[in-house]
Amino acid sequence: MAVIGAGIAGIATAARLAVAGHAVTVFEAAATFGGKMHQFALPGGYRFDAGPSLFTLPQLVDDIFRLAGREPADYFRYERLDPITQYFFADGTRLTAWADAAKFAAEVEEKLDTPAAAVTQFLSRSGRAYDATAGTFLHKSLHKAGTYLSPETLKAVAALPQLGLLGTMHQRHARAFADPRLVQLFDRYATYNGSDPYQAPATLSMIPHLEHGIGAFYPEGGIYAIAASLHRLAEEFGVKFRYNEPVEEITVAEGRVTGLRTALDAYAFGQVVSNMDVVPTYRRLLPQQPAPERTLSQPRSSSALIFYWGIAREFPALDLHNIFFSGDYQREFQAIFQDKTVADDVTVYVNVTSKKTPADAPAGHENWFVMVNVPHDQGQDWAALTAHTRRVVLAKLSQALGAEIEPLIAAEKVWTPPGIAADTSSFGGALYGSSSNNALAAFLRHPNFSGRLDGLYFCGGSVHPGGGIPLCLLSAKIVSSLINEE
Ligand SMILES: Cc1cc2nc3c(=O)[nH]c(=O)nc-3n(C[C@H](O)[C@H](O)[C@H](O)COP(=O)(O)OP(=O)(O)OC[C@H]3O[C@@H](n4cnc5c(N)ncnc54)[C@H](O)[C@@H]3O)c2cc1C
Repeated sequence: MAVIGAGIAGIATAARLAVAGHAVTVFEAAATFGGKMHQFALPGGYRFDAGPSLFTLPQLVDDIFRLAGREPADYFRYERLDPITQYFFADGTRLTAWADAAKFAAEVEEKLDTPAAAVTQFLSRSGRAYDATAGTFLHKSLHKAGTYLSPETLKAVAALPQLGLLGTMHQRHARAFADPRLVQLFDRYATYNGSDPYQAPATLSMIPHLEHGIGAFYPEGGIYAIAASLHRLAEEFGVKFRYNEPVEEITVAEGRVTGLRTALDAYAFGQVVSNMDVVPTYRRLLPQQPAPERTLSQPRSSSALIFYWGIAREFPALDLHNIFFSGDYQREFQAIFQDKTVADDVTVYVNVTSKKTPADAPAGHENWFVMVNVPHDQGQDWAALTAHTRRVVLAKLSQALGAEIEPLIAAEKVWTPPGIAADTSSFGGALYGSSSNNALAAFLRHPNFSGRLDGLYFCGGSVHPGGGIPLCLLSAKIVSSLINEE
């Protein structure tokens, strides 16, 4: 069987299928594996993870090694982060998000004048909501009748009203907390799947439980180690990776997939799993086939502008994950999702892996991954928006850190939404496929299989259960079970 794309979901799918005994070939358009999870170096000795930086649910990676009968730590190691994030609010308040819920709540009580109990109650409710629903909504196909008939699903659906999960995420947080800074902190979790807290359903309020209940983690060697370790396992189980070979067509006869075609050759395969974004999979690889238009027209998630900077100084105030909030969050999301532009004040995320892996930057230097959430590409003037955002970011960071940042930039690269689209084929450069800006979004994502063409399957961030590393790994699990069951 074939997998189109060596993103994290494609690699995980290939590894799972190979472990189950299938012969698997992965076709990858780029020169190497990883997709959004690739790494690169900048002159002067700086290494960067290009895309994801925040990592939860590492057991989903371990599961694949265990499935293969291997010891996970022989391939992949990680540490639990504590603290998780340093927050810098627009009014100058600084807050440390400790991993432990009680310690985090005590910090909130001291810095944000909110009773600690309000935070611990909120987090434990998030935990109960997660436990009640994740098994149904994330671990299974939502598009097979069996999922709906299970007692677990009925329990999950019945639990929703009592869990206070009606309305939007922002409404839920504004009800729970009086301090707008704390509301902003929890609203931020909407961006974990590229959504808008003022539209996204309150069910997403369970995301903080992943960090404060289960944990946030850092893989030894950086996020790229996730892709590299699974790639190694896949190769050990005989998966063949064909790089620089973009698939141009999925071939079909009489309602079934028969294989695929690249510029080099035509190949026969009984099953094809597309890890390519579902929109271009239909538009470019299956142009003659009817496409599920309603699914493909779901609004896209946000994208990002990322500045990768080699910085010729160390900043003790920074940690691995740092957030510098804007003064007006609502205006910022209005700019992204309604006005399709970048606001005049933005929230800036700075990830510094050299804090954990010193070899990622020369001694006395740091490698800054500086990211701003922006709309996906709809033909905006990205040169102008990038210049504007760079100015805003430099002013904000210089002020908050008490040092002029621009003269410290020793190496630089920028990734824009059109760049992300060109490098990974993600539609509009959206980071997480379709957004979760309405209550039905989970049901409107494309299933992990085609309802029209036998032998065609889908994995990755643009299909069920959604974007982000854990969900991509779950899509691989769902797809491989569907194939194995058949
Ligand atoms: C800047 C950024 C920050 C992010 N931050 C986080 C984070 O902190 N935490 C988190 O969990 N997630 C984060 N994400 C999201 C996460 O990276 C993605 O959800 C995930 O990596 C997507 O993996 P994927 O397997 O769906 O596909 P992709 O990584 O998109 O890979 C698809 C692959 O398919 C290949 N391909 C496409 N078309 C073809 C074709 N026709 N033939 C052959 N190959 C093809 C592409 O070249 C690519 O390698 C971030 C993403 C970005 C870009």
